[in-house]
This record gives sequence, structure tokens and C-alpha cells, in this order.
Amino acid sequence: MTTQITEPTQPDADLVRRDSFMAALSLAEILISQTTKLPTSFDVRVAPWAQGEANLRFYFHHDVPGLRQFRDDQMLTERMEARKDGSVYCEATRDMDGVRVTAWTLTDPPKDDVVSDAPALALPQMAVDCPACGAEAGALCTSHNGTRVRKHDAHQQRRDAWISSSRDE
Ligand SMILES: [Zn+2]
Repeated sequence: MTTQITEPTQPDADLVRRDSFMAALSLAEILISQTTKLPTSFDVRVAPWAQGEANLRFYFHHDVPGLRQFRDDQMLTERMEARKDGSVYCEATRDMDGVRVTAWTLTDPPKDDVVSDAPALALPQMAVDCPACGAEAGALCTSHNGTRVRKHDAHQQRRDAWISSSRDE
């Protein structure tokens, strides 16, 4: 079977954008067929003012573990950003075949933000960053990907980190 391909008669500028869309869609197809963790949705953006710059954005609805699975599958680089309301925006990106791939999620604001009286603040391992949840020195550990603050204890790995840091001194 032969297929007749007719070139569309489009201005060059549109062809560049069309190619960018196609590249992003092809990549989306590959990534979705490969990944062990499927996103909630994805969208493709090629802005008229940014010719040839395709953005492929995978959204994980309230799903940091899902996002991280996808990140690891596709070797993306993660970045987190705390918002004023206490919610956390988390995205992981990588440029693949000329397409900017972004996976992102947004957590809910924490429901309980009174943590100044938490018993765990008295623990000595609060002096170091937590390798398990990423809590910075002086901040409480969090569970469930930052959605719940651990008031009464800290991660075992943080204690280990504190022990090895005091040994170094
Ligand atoms: Zn922790």
C-alpha cells in the first residue's frame, strides 16, 4: 500500500510550531508507553512567541510519590517550591529531543500548622537536615510527602545523620 503525502501549504513559522507539536506528541507517546506511573493528564504547549520550544507537561493530581516514580523512570531533575498558603509545588524537568518535559504536582496546604510546641523539636537530631524527608535543620520531619508534620518523632535516618555529624566534629 502506498500513501500519498501532500505537503500542507502553511507559512514557515507555522511549520516550525507544527513540528514542535508533533515532536512533543511523539515524545508523549513514548513516555506514556514506557512509564510505570501514569500521570493524571498531560498537555502540550508551543507558544506562538516561542517558536520551536515545545513544552510537554505531565500532571500528577496530589501525587508526589507518582511524580517521583515518573521522575526516576525518566531521569528528571526535581525542584520543590513552598507556596505562601503552605502548599508545595513540586516539578521535575528534563529536555528530551528538543522538548522540555515537565512533571508536576501540587500538595494541599497543611491542615495543622501549629508546630511550635511539638515535642520532637527538643530532639538533638533537629540540628541536622533530614535525609529522609528533606526537612531542614530546626524544622520538623514530615510524612506523606510533606503533607503531615511529625510532631512527636523524627525519621530514623535523621538520627543516623545527626550521630555521624557529631562524630565528625
Ligand atoms: Zn525526616
